[in-house]
Amino acid sequence: MKRLIIVFLSALLLTLSSGCSKNSNTKSSVKSAEPTSDSSSSVEQPAVKALAKVHSTEVIDGVTYIDGILIVNKTYSLPKSYNYGLTDETLEAFNNMAKAAAKDNIPLVIASGFRSYKEQEKLYKEYSAENGQKEADTYSARAGYSEHQSGLAIDVNGADFSMVGQKDMKWLEKHCTDYGFIIRFPKGKESITGYSYEPWHIRYVGKKTAKEMKKQGVCLEEYLGVDSEYK
Ligand SMILES: [Zn+2]
Repeated sequence: MKRLIIVFLSALLLTLSSGCSKNSNTKSSVKSAEPTSDSSSSVEQPAVKALAKVHSTEVIDGVTYIDGILIVNKTYSLPKSYNYGLTDETLEAFNNMAKAAAKDNIPLVIASGFRSYKEQEKLYKEYSAENGQKEADTYSARAGYSEHQSGLAIDVNGADFSMVGQKDMKWLEKHCTDYGFIIRFPKGKESITGYSYEPWHIRYVGKKTAKEMKKQGVCLEEYLGVDSEYK
């Protein structure tokens, strides 16, 4: 019950802060919200709805698509049998990007593209044995939860933490959206994506989506309105 009230109040706060340009005093917003909610809840609801983007979710053969975009993270898994290699579009986009990078004297190669359920299972087990499960979960996906299994993700070049801030990673960050890729686990979004910053892990989403996400400054979970947590 208490939780419900909190949710309702925060929804009201959202409504209020969007409706008025002055949003400096949270306390007064709560006070003024109370009578409004008692008298005309029917007025509040459409305003709240207008704020939240409505996403369409489809599950086809155990694979989840939100707004037509395949999602795999700690919440959404892939079936064990999903085993198709890198998609043609992903590979073509990567090759085009690598050509452009080469012109800027930046070599880009695929360190790791598609990984099957079995390969991921082995990898995750090794990492867990080495660093413990809790630590492994921050940088490696459990089998069935890896984006590499989708055929849409690529680890570029060395794919390790020594690459943070390096020239090739900077190039990637600046240009990858032009080829339809996003830096899937951006810095500052760790608590949302569920993973450490990985400048080398790119995900193909198509040019339009990649550019839109960059413009909005959001990670895929934010863009699609989902979480990333093992349940
Ligand atoms: Zn990766």
